[in-house]
Formats: sequence, structure tokens, C-alpha cells
Amino acid sequence: TPIVIAIDGPSGSGKSSTSRGVASALGYDYLDTGAMYRAMTWALLQRGVDVEDADAVAVAADDVSIRVGTDPQAPTIQADGTDVAGPIRQDEVTTAVSPVSAVPHVRELLVRAQREVIATSSGAGRGIVVEGRDIGTVVAPDAPLKVYLVADTAARAARRAAELGGVDASLTEASLTRRDTIDSTRTASPLVQADDAVVVDSTHLTLDEVIEHIVGLARE
Ligand code: C5P
Repeated sequence: TPIVIAIDGPSGSGKSSTSRGVASALGYDYLDTGAMYRAMTWALLQRGVDVEDADAVAVAADDVSIRVGTDPQAPTIQADGTDVAGPIRQDEVTTAVSPVSAVPHVRELLVRAQREVIATSSGAGRGIVVEGRDIGTVVAPDAPLKVYLVADTAARAARRAAELGGVDASLTEASLTRRDTIDSTRTASPLVQADDAVVVDSTHLTLDEVIEHIVGLARE
């Protein structure tokens, strides 16, 4: 099995850009587990499933097929054979993803799929950077490097608002905070820092500085 670098943290802390940059710098594969929860959510919405109905979500989830590509330069994500890279970033999915991710059976299915991707990702040969909420605690507890990436709420909201093309940062902040609350207080694998994770605060760092710092930790 390849070396795993686990990168966890709250929404908007810069996990995706950071993880892709670290993977590219090291020649590793890259797995975005958030994209898998989003793709699952997209597929359930397509089926007309009420995402607040945990039983209905659990039953319907069994029938969804998700595929991910692990090239950090060009990650891909499909649900039921459809490319969903665009749709999974839309508000409808972003709002529905936290209740879907709180359903234990959904996590069982996706954690199993994630471990399989990790085990078979011999593409880059050496390692894989895996980003999410429970990578260091659940998906890959033996990872030799675990990063818990944080940033001030205002900084996270400002970055996310800029990414979305200049929408109101206070709305983005409300949406991030809402997701963090659901993600940290759910019963199934809540967002928590692993005991052996290194905390990296990106509030006052540029993306390149964060990447360089983590690459340095990986080379230690
Ligand atoms: O990382 P991203 O913001 O795309 O993740 C979307 C949502 O998927 C999170 O808010 C969380 O509810 C869920 N998620 C999770 N466990 C992971 C990755 C994401 O519960 N490992």
C-alpha cells in the first residue's frame, strides 16, 4: 500500500488546493473524499430522495456508483457514469451534503470505496494525499503524516467567496459555519483532529507557503 498523507480540517480551510499542490510536488496521487460525499448527494437528489430522511438516504445509497480519478493535475468524479465535477459544487449539493454525510451507512460505503482507491492507487507508485474530515481518524489511521488544516472563519469565508466569483462573504460564512457545526456534532465520525495530527494554520500564509510547509513535513 502507498504512503498516505492525510489532510483533514473544516470547510474552506484550503484543503483541496493544498492537497493537490502537495501531491503534485511529491509526485503522489490525490484523493478528494469530499467530492465523493458530494457525488453521492448529487445522485440522491437526482433520485428525488429526501436528504433529511436518514433511512431513505441509507437505502438509496446502496444503488449509487461513484468513481474518482486520482491525478492531482486533473482529478475526476463520476456518479452513475455521469461526470459531476461541475454540479457537485452548486449550492443545492453543498446544502444537502452534510446531512447525507451524517448517515452511518453512507460513510460505511464511502470509507470502503476510499480504502480501495488508496490500496489500488499504485499509479504514482509512492504515495497518495487524501483530504477530508475523517482521514487521519478513520479512513487511514496509520498514515505516517496527518495534517489538520485550519484558518480563521473570516479568512475561510473570504477565500470561498472569491472562489465562487465574488459572492457576499457573510453568506458564505454562514454556510461554512452551518456545515462545520453539522460535521463536528454528528454521531458518525465527526470532524475531530487526530491525536497525532500536526495543526497547520493557513490564515496568514499564502497557498505556496502552506504547500511548502507540508512538503517539508513529508520529507522529514
Ligand atoms: O471537502 P468538502 O467541503 O467538499 O466536503 C463536503 C462535505 O462532505 C463536508 O461538509 C462533510 O459533510 C462531508 N465529508 C465528510 N467526510 C469526509 C469528506 C467530506 O463527511 N472525509
